[in-house]
Amino acid sequence: MNDLTDLHEDLRNGVRQLCATFPDEYWRKLDADTAYPTEFVKAMTAAGYLAALIPEEYGGIGVGLTEASIILEEIHRSGGNAAACHAQMYIMGTLLRHGSAEQKAQYLPKIASGELRLQAFGVTEPDAGTDTTSLRTRAVRDGDSYIVNGQKIWTSRAEHSDLMMLLARTTPKEEVEKRTHGLSVFLIDLKSAVGQGVTIEPIETMMNHQTTQVYFDNLRIPADSLIGEEGMGFRYILDGMNAERALIAAECIGDGYWFVERAKNYASEREVFGRPIGQNQGIQFPIAQAYIHIRAADLMRYEACRLFDSGQACGAEANMSKLLAADASWEAANVAVQTYGGFGFAAEYDVERKFRETRLYQVAPISTNLILSYVAQHVLKMPRSF
Ligand SMILES: Cc1cc2nc3c(=O)[nH]c(=O)nc-3n(C[C@H](O)[C@H](O)[C@H](O)COP(=O)(O)OP(=O)(O)OC[C@H]3O[C@@H](n4cnc5c(N)ncnc54)[C@H](O)[C@@H]3O)c2cc1C
Repeated sequence: MNDLTDLHEDLRNGVRQLCATFPDEYWRKLDADTAYPTEFVKAMTAAGYLAALIPEEYGGIGVGLTEASIILEEIHRSGGNAAACHAQMYIMGTLLRHGSAEQKAQYLPKIASGELRLQAFGVTEPDAGTDTTSLRTRAVRDGDSYIVNGQKIWTSRAEHSDLMMLLARTTPKEEVEKRTHGLSVFLIDLKSAVGQGVTIEPIETMMNHQTTQVYFDNLRIPADSLIGEEGMGFRYILDGMNAERALIAAECIGDGYWFVERAKNYASEREVFGRPIGQNQGIQFPIAQAYIHIRAADLMRYEACRLFDSGQACGAEANMSKLLAADASWEAANVAVQTYGGFGFAAEYDVERKFRETRLYQVAPISTNLILSYVAQHVLKMPRSF
């Protein structure tokens, strides 16, 4: 237990020190320029943090989801945004658990060293967001290849990733017994596919998220791009989705602590009517309340990670941690803006930037309604709604 605590403290301190070299101004300028944090991602890769989940034999650190979540939490707690690089952690599980020995040997060492980035995850389509199994992008076997046609939307970081993990239909929905069948996962060499059947179009968003639409027009990919068994892809990515939920929860918790810290400091310094505004309980209590909610969400996040790392079912806890943490960070964001008054809207204080960034997690990667629906149906065993 002590060894584990030491490892966590070392990780926290290491990431904190690295993040301190990327201060508020760095993230503010990226936000203003809608630019990708290339230097930050390079530094995180060089320090080995983005290869946290890659086993040591492939050049990674070989730690678990708990440790990966600490790394992402610290990025957010420092005022940064892990959205630029978090996908490498939650996509990794699919490759690690279901990839062949050849695929792992081919890709993992290069991902660990930073030679290749695996940051793009193509699942959502214009007509299939929440309802994943309705996705229509097709991959049709043709000899030693698959031919891919279709369109993905909200494929974040596609312009900054060498590889893309793609979920596509290999058997039409009408021809499968269960709607979750007939979907397959492919690992695509995105860089070489651009111009050869892939077109990427950026989408402007309310925060700097580097997200895109990706069009596939008769893209030919080698048949060995398939991960695991054809038709089983939905099950493979579900595992990864639990990891993703716990990791996003950790990011929200990092945001929450950041908002509370900033609000507390500002409230202690800002004087109105000749005394610090933080002396008023009307200012103190919402900050204290937000802090309590973050701490509570944090417990569920560690529980989700613990279950995941010990190979136990964690769907309920991963979903609940995501909902609790996203709600807590959003509450803290609102409290921070209120505490800062007018300055909460000024870019130079960074609160408005983080406010925009943390709002996403009420919707993506899974929306609050869908988590409530999951808990109602799968945990409470209430009637199925859809
Ligand atoms: C900035 C950003 C980055 C993203 N990055 C990625 C990425 O890298 N890769 C990727 O694949 N996807 C990505 N996504 C997509 C994201 O996962 C989806 O937006 C999300 O799953 C919701 O899908 P949708 O937007 O199509 O909403 P819809 O499915 O159209 O739903 C709209 C709203 O209706 C609600 N709703 C739908 N059905 C029900 C119901 N039965 N009961 C109650 N409420 C319901 C939903 O909760 C949602 O609030 C990203 C999205 C954003 C905004």
